Amino acid sequence: MPERLFYPLFALQHRGQEAAGIAYNRNKKVVFYKSLGMVSGVLSHYLGEQHPSKVGIGHVRYSTQGGNKIENAQPFCIACNKGQIAFAHNGNISNSDDLRASLFDKGSIFQSTSDTELILHLISRSEKATFREALLEILPKLQGAFSGIFIHEDTLYAVRDPLGFRPLVMGQSLDMTVFASETCALDTLGIPDHEDVQPAEMIIVKNGRIDRVQWAPVNQKGQCIFELIYFARPDSTVFGYSVHMLRKKLGAALAAIDDHHGDIVISVPDSGNSAALGYSVTSGTPLEHGLTRNHYSGRTFIQPTPETRELGVRLKLHPIKRAIAGKKVTIIDDSMVRGTTSKILISLLREAGAKEIHLRLSAPEIKNPCFFGIDIPTPSELISNRMTPSQIARFIGADSVQFLPIDSLRSCVDNPDDFCYGCFAGTYPCPVKDSPMRRKD
Ligand code: SF4
Repeated sequence: MPERLFYPLFALQHRGQEAAGIAYNRNKKVVFYKSLGMVSGVLSHYLGEQHPSKVGIGHVRYSTQGGNKIENAQPFCIACNKGQIAFAHNGNISNSDDLRASLFDKGSIFQSTSDTELILHLISRSEKATFREALLEILPKLQGAFSGIFIHEDTLYAVRDPLGFRPLVMGQSLDMTVFASETCALDTLGIPDHEDVQPAEMIIVKNGRIDRVQWAPVNQKGQCIFELIYFARPDSTVFGYSVHMLRKKLGAALAAIDDHHGDIVISVPDSGNSAALGYSVTSGTPLEHGLTRNHYSGRTFIQPTPETRELGVRLKLHPIKRAIAGKKVTIIDDSMVRGTTSKILISLLREAGAKEIHLRLSAPEIKNPCFFGIDIPTPSELISNRMTPSQIARFIGADSVQFLPIDSLRSCVDNPDDFCYGCFAGTYPCPVKDSPMRRKD
């Protein structure tokens, strides 16, 4: 079992690099191991281990609510009046401050600041007799984003919030039922077919038997559009969309509104690759390999302070001078947050001899926080709250900057009203009372 958890988690490493962990049922006990670090460093000692087990879960942590501390690493494993439980989830509960305060007043003791522990407290304190009844009682109390998996004894429960903010898919082979945030994890186990766990659905798997429960009505969806723009891996299918094909459409939409088609188009690898291809095909501008990415530069040994950020970008992205020198370059990136990375990147392209540089972003301007699990800086740090695109161009040293308008983004999906655009538009699909999802450490 641990080995079967390792490979899918390795495929999901892009979703979180700060901690990794697994939990599984072994000899009728739920055991776990987790630590700060990447999957290969934290869990590789499980490779080759074949402990028989019917259920297991794993998690890679992307630090938002609760910060990067071992106490907040998942899965959480507890023994309580409902039995042995392990839990891992993706997303953020947007009313967690209220729920935590209420439990605290009733005497609950918290070891962490994460939503995961909060949910387990709610289950433990429920007066329902069984784990399943307790889960069905507490899920409607949670607001915001959660796609989560529980182990209870030898049974697995997968749940998704009613708006379906974060993805969760189920795949099956002859001897396994697997749940994952992205289909790229199922591919590592040779499982080609999958279906979405539906919003407000609970799927229970025990001894190969599957039971499906709709635990709340679904009137509206709020799938995170940023998953498709930036977060997910391009070979995954998310919310029913091929991430690569959707990003190509975003690039094509950018090209359709662009007056400057340069001599070449290049991408900021890797998240700009698919959009650059779509831009190239639609505009007829040759796609060039203008930047090489050093995949070994890592992200931990250089802390992102203003002083070290330039060195970090220089170690990660390298212009190919012979491809760029003397050319009018259109460069495609997925989004812009503070603008500092773009500024360094533009100076690298200037050093490489680019004649003109036109930066195009396959996302609208980010102006608002996220309350549902994506770490976005405070509004005052967001460059689009301080400058217009032409001011940004001057600030970063580009000849022009253009963002994908929200209407163009909406036109790239078949069902635009099923998505959250909160960080762009400032309106969210559910109430937001707590502070935005920012690191607290
Ligand atoms: S606010 Fe932005 S990042 Fe957060 S869920 Fe909505 S679209 Fe996704």
